[in-house]
Amino acid sequence: MPVPQTLPVNEVFYAFQGEGLFMGCAAFFIRLQGCPIRCAFCDSASTWDSKNGKRMRIDSLVAAAKKEPANIVVITGGEPAVHDLRALCQKLHAAGKRVHIETSGAFALRGKFDFITVSPKKKRPPLPKILNKADEIKLIIDSPAAIAYWLKRLPSPLPKKTKAILLQPEFSKHQDPRVLNAITRAVKTHGNSLPLRATVQLHKLYNADALDKRARK
Ligand code: SF4
Repeated sequence: MPVPQTLPVNEVFYAFQGEGLFMGCAAFFIRLQGCPIRCAFCDSASTWDSKNGKRMRIDSLVAAAKKEPANIVVITGGEPAVHDLRALCQKLHAAGKRVHIETSGAFALRGKFDFITVSPKKKRPPLPKILNKADEIKLIIDSPAAIAYWLKRLPSPLPKKTKAILLQPEFSKHQDPRVLNAITRAVKTHGNSLPLRATVQLHKLYNADALDKRARK
């Protein structure tokens, strides 16, 4: 199969990474269209249909990333792993960028990545071989029960590559004391034997999208 030279794009933007171990770092984002998983709490449902969005040439995406000073390019979605990303990764690397991906882990990865975030979803659990490649595992916590549910399903022992298991409240619950207390308890109980980290979606607290759009006016 020839490697495709275009991808369906929802948006590209330059911001800071709002989640995970690179939280707060400058990054260029490529948000691709397409996700067959369709979680109830999805905050990017506009990405679900691969036919929507703009079909962009990979060269144009790389040129847009090169215009910004960020060393990191984050490929996200949607579920970016439904696409063949080999050409995009190769050209971003040739441009001197680090390539990060955010995936549910439910699909085989096609491309070379410098940092892999796996955020498992109940509706379509991750493939063990992808979970084993995760640099960080981001668990979306929508109820106290979700913590035990996911901790039981993670590989044991954890792959050496996995530096953190992030407990991130689903955003509509980010001020729910039941969820926040459960995350706190989990970190206190298991955080010395597992690399658990309590976290948030920093960009949403900053409302960084709105700030950025105002700054560009
Ligand atoms: S996997 Fe991610 S993009 Fe897909 S529906 Fe779930 S939250 Fe949304």
